[in-house]
Amino acid sequence: MKVKFWGTRGSIPTPLPPAAIEGKIRQALRGAVGLDLSSEAAIERYLQRLPVTICSTVGGNTPCIEVRAGQQMLVLDAGSGLRLLGQELMKAEFGKGQGAVDILISHTHWDHLQGLPFFKPGFVRGNRVTFHSPHAHLEKAFVGQQDPIYFPVPLSYLSGDIQFRHIPAGEWTQIGAMRVYPFRMDHPGESYAYRIEGENASVVYATDSEYKQFDQAAGQIYVDFFRNADLLIFDAQYSFNDVLDKQDWGHSTPMIGAELAHRAGVRRLALFHHDPLSDDEAVYSGLKQAESYLAQRGSPCQVMIASEELEVEW
Ligand SMILES: [Zn+2]
Ligand SMILES: [Zn+2]
Repeated sequence: MKVKFWGTRGSIPTPLPPAAIEGKIRQALRGAVGLDLSSEAAIERYLQRLPVTICSTVGGNTPCIEVRAGQQMLVLDAGSGLRLLGQELMKAEFGKGQGAVDILISHTHWDHLQGLPFFKPGFVRGNRVTFHSPHAHLEKAFVGQQDPIYFPVPLSYLSGDIQFRHIPAGEWTQIGAMRVYPFRMDHPGESYAYRIEGENASVVYATDSEYKQFDQAAGQIYVDFFRNADLLIFDAQYSFNDVLDKQDWGHSTPMIGAELAHRAGVRRLALFHHDPLSDDEAVYSGLKQAESYLAQRGSPCQVMIASEELEVEW
């Protein structure tokens, strides 16, 4: 199975401000004082040594993830990252009107839908785009987003074959060679996590959720759902301090992700749905906390920050 992140920011697209870019360049130049960087190879070596918070960014696009197993592709959510995925897909069969994609929608908040009006494959006749979720209002939400008072091009203008398929929560549905299980989470607006299983591989996509009564018994339904996943993609929007002020806002923290992943025997944990108020340093400090928590518990779970263009394969 192969997973690629196209958008990992929560709530609203969050471009890196010019001052932040300048700050990263300044830090990189400071570290280079006295070094001989006169060859491409030396520059490359220097870049490899820089902390990720200086030489890169988690990115600003809202949720969109590509999951591939063999020849099949599933997409998780249609946030602004979907635009970038669409550009990539246009280079192959989708550019010729011969593509087919299935997109699972966690819930219909804007940050999980807003990429569709800019998804080029949807505008090409012959392509098939099928949305799946347990929401009764799924199609209405996408049509409403492109109502003329919000957007100049209605959904009906898209010449690809756009379908909306209701799938039941709390049971398995087969989509091609993969099977998916939607699981209701605690979040305003009816959010679902998905467990996705291919041949000998599993991913759990658990965005937009709060874990209120976080004791052994109350957390058990989530532990059971996450059990032994190869990869758990987890809403880690808030820091531990933030979450105390943001009860009922429907989001979680890196530490809760680490605890649940450990208890569930998850192999890899990707911290996801980063807060628009968190800069790269703040996001990566959440990674350090989760890593040290897992180390204290003696957990073999590997934790990472979900960032744009990150690929995870096993
Ligand atoms: Zn969200
Ligand atoms: Zn939401």
